Amino acid sequence: MSDLYARHRSVLPDWLALYYEDPLEITHGEGRHVWDADGNKYLDFFGGILTTMTAHALPEVTKAMSEQAGRILHSSTLYLNRPMVELAERIAQLSGIPDARVFFTTSGTEANDTALLLATTYRRSNTLLAMRNSYHGRSFSAVGITGNRGWSPTSLSPLQTLYVHGGVRTRGPYASLGDEEFIAACVEDLKDLLGHTRPPAALIAEPIQGVGGFTSPPDGLYAAFREVLAERGILWIADEVQTGWGRTGDHFWGWQAHAQNGPPDLLTFAKGIGNGSSIGGVVARAEIMNCLDANSISTFGGTQITMAAGLANLSYLLEHDLQGNARRVGGLLLERLRAVAAQVPHVREVRGRGLMLGVELVKPGTDEADPDAASAVLEATRADGLLIGKGGGHNTSALRIAPPLSLTVTEAEEGAAILERALRSLS
Ligand code: PLP
Repeated sequence: MSDLYARHRSVLPDWLALYYEDPLEITHGEGRHVWDADGNKYLDFFGGILTTMTAHALPEVTKAMSEQAGRILHSSTLYLNRPMVELAERIAQLSGIPDARVFFTTSGTEANDTALLLATTYRRSNTLLAMRNSYHGRSFSAVGITGNRGWSPTSLSPLQTLYVHGGVRTRGPYASLGDEEFIAACVEDLKDLLGHTRPPAALIAEPIQGVGGFTSPPDGLYAAFREVLAERGILWIADEVQTGWGRTGDHFWGWQAHAQNGPPDLLTFAKGIGNGSSIGGVVARAEIMNCLDANSISTFGGTQITMAAGLANLSYLLEHDLQGNARRVGGLLLERLRAVAAQVPHVREVRGRGLMLGVELVKPGTDEADPDAASAVLEATRADGLLIGKGGGHNTSALRIAPPLSLTVTEAEEGAAILERALRSLS
């Protein structure tokens, strides 16, 4: 056990997740690579934890942050703040939500908490709908709407949450259905739930489940849900903490795969926008955002230093069409992994889109999740110079691949070759 690991164990919570039997200490990064304290170099296929959206140590972001740091780090949102207004203008316009207002927080959890506060206040109901297998953060209320059973049983949340089918397709009652039948079955389930409850405030859902192992519903699922919800005045909150900013390649936001009947009522974001600095937030129509009476700030939400990072990062992403890159390079990676998967009996499914790809591992010849196989792949890829992720809670048998969106074709091929070796070594 390294000295730092021993010190970590003696002062930090036991439940703080750590990857690898011999945990890594990352010291620096550049582009799509990071280095550990022993000087080993790794290709980063997890982008921090989808936080390094463009690249590690991107010079444009570093320059914007150091210039901002030389002026002021933070003056609170009690005063006018130019970088915050400018980033809000860009996000409001990109969100697709009409008459949009943006409230900045410091994390995805706080963004979702705020969305819940807004939705429950606006609709005067503390009943919520959430997806089975979902993850929305680690605060008291976010855990209370998280469907991933790794977290929920410990929560005594005051919210009443009802869980909707549609998050998981590889197991459960609807596993064998085609897309249209799957959607129809999930819509029936939703209607059934609504027949047994007080009118809920909102449905919160990740367009592709992140911690849940990058499980992707069929396109159009949320559009079909939306019809049922809109008839009853129930809001739709899209949790875009992992799926935003072009990561899914085909779309800038995950909700756009379900866009037939327009944008969500509220959208939450975090992770990638700050390229590693702490930005989260909520976008909502003015009518919903302004339903709170209280004068409210998030002390560090919207602070100048992170807003400067967000502006530089977003400009780089758009100017270099990293969404298009995610579509092209992610498409190649998906094809390559599917070809390998066809020959490795441990692989149940390779799924996702853009640079958000999941590989679900099972015990060969069964449908039984195999978290040990996922851990073995993590160890083997690390030994070969590649970092990847895995799902959380009850989804640790799914590998998660989410590199920075500037990944090159050569790097994609290099990473795919390492993954291929690790997957083949399972048999
Ligand atoms: N929502 C989703 C979809 C997430 O994946 C996460 C974190 O993984 C969160 C919310 C919580 O974000 P944070 O860890 O920044 O609080």
